Amino acid sequence: MSEKSMTDIIALCKRRGFIFQSSEIYGGLQGLYDYGPLGVELKNNLKAAWWRAIVYDRDDVEGLDSTVLTHKLTLRHSGHEATFADPLVDCRECKSRWRADHVKGKCEKCGSTDLTEPRPFNMMFKTTIGPIVDEESYAYLRPETAQGIFTNFKNVVDSTSRKLPFGIAQIGKAFRNEITPRNFIFRVREFEQMECEFFVEPGTDLEWHERWVKERINWWKAQGLTEENLECYSQKADELAHYSKACVDILYRFPHGLEELEGIADRTDFDLGSHSKNPDELKLAATVNPNIDSTAQLTIRDTKTETTVVPFCIEPSAGVDRGVLAVLTEAFTKEKLENGNERIVLKLKPHLSPIKVAVIPLAKNNPAIVEKALLIKKELQSLGLGRVLFENSGNVGKSYRRHDEVGTPICVTVDFETIEKEPASVTVRDRDSMTQERIEVKDLADYVRKYYSSQG
Ligand SMILES: [Zn+2]
Repeated sequence: MSEKSMTDIIALCKRRGFIFQSSEIYGGLQGLYDYGPLGVELKNNLKAAWWRAIVYDRDDVEGLDSTVLTHKLTLRHSGHEATFADPLVDCRECKSRWRADHVKGKCEKCGSTDLTEPRPFNMMFKTTIGPIVDEESYAYLRPETAQGIFTNFKNVVDSTSRKLPFGIAQIGKAFRNEITPRNFIFRVREFEQMECEFFVEPGTDLEWHERWVKERINWWKAQGLTEENLECYSQKADELAHYSKACVDILYRFPHGLEELEGIADRTDFDLGSHSKNPDELKLAATVNPNIDSTAQLTIRDTKTETTVVPFCIEPSAGVDRGVLAVLTEAFTKEKLENGNERIVLKLKPHLSPIKVAVIPLAKNNPAIVEKALLIKKELQSLGLGRVLFENSGNVGKSYRRHDEVGTPICVTVDFETIEKEPASVTVRDRDSMTQERIEVKDLADYVRKYYSSQG
């Protein structure tokens, strides 16, 4: 167990505006959370870092944004309709409901062993499309972003002329009707995923799988997660899905324990095969069900062998919300100061920090200082690094404490010296070292730009 407490992290998230319970004023909805003013920035920064690494920094991945509402046939042929179900048991004593594989014969709430027989339960959210509600007009809220990638495989290949190996990446919402949502934003009913389906020639898949595992661990480290809190778990042969050749889970030491942050699976040709018309014609490695609903065979011309193949697929699939919880956990620090006081500081990697620079006028009633601070805010905002906050609180000490807690790397204070002395200068305070230095206003933009480019 991590020594960081979930209670401390949840309290900070609420106090400073990172994460709130959804519909809180109506008593809240279980397993649903809203991202507040700072949470949305942190989450966007994490997603942007993933997109940069997966799409922009490589030359073999395309992006996609497919719909949340998903055709029932997509989720029938993906196997979700039939198998995306966890057997449930009810406790006859306290009426609570559990996943059968979680409770092992004993109610976690009241300890009773008087449980019902396990019954199947489909975790997908069903909804109706159009004004007429009948048996056939339903669709699903997607339980993962991956299926939209598979169903667009042909569109992307035809429109980009991609050859193997290449990938398609997507970030977006997914929905699962979890029986027992828990551990804050770790297991929730509405969440976001960052998924890449990387298509390779059959036979090169295990090698690509290994490369992706390394790549993804390094990426999480670049988001600030430390080696000692990360672990890899290779699923054993009997744990793998029938079509899967390998699966490695990247685990993180969350406050509630070591749990999955991302999974990297070798899914063979199961997905593209399953969504292909008459898949029995395709000599697939995976066993798939018949499909007479699809209008396409999801194949690609292999330029090496000059044959048509159904590519194998490597899938790095990460949870955005779990990622947010992991970086918050890692960054959350209680420090004993030399004067005996304690400070809470969120030591986020600067590229993830919700606020890049806080500009603070020393005196909130001094028009010259306030005006100068506003000009500096405007100039720094135009650098395009993310949010720069003008904070006219009139209490610099309080502002520093607040910005330590939300992980703002740089605070700029505009004071009397700024407006009275030539050349004009400001105080720049560093979050982690708390050191302050005097920087000339004309050099400030350069200083900030260099700071962020050196932090990656
Ligand atoms: Zn019970």
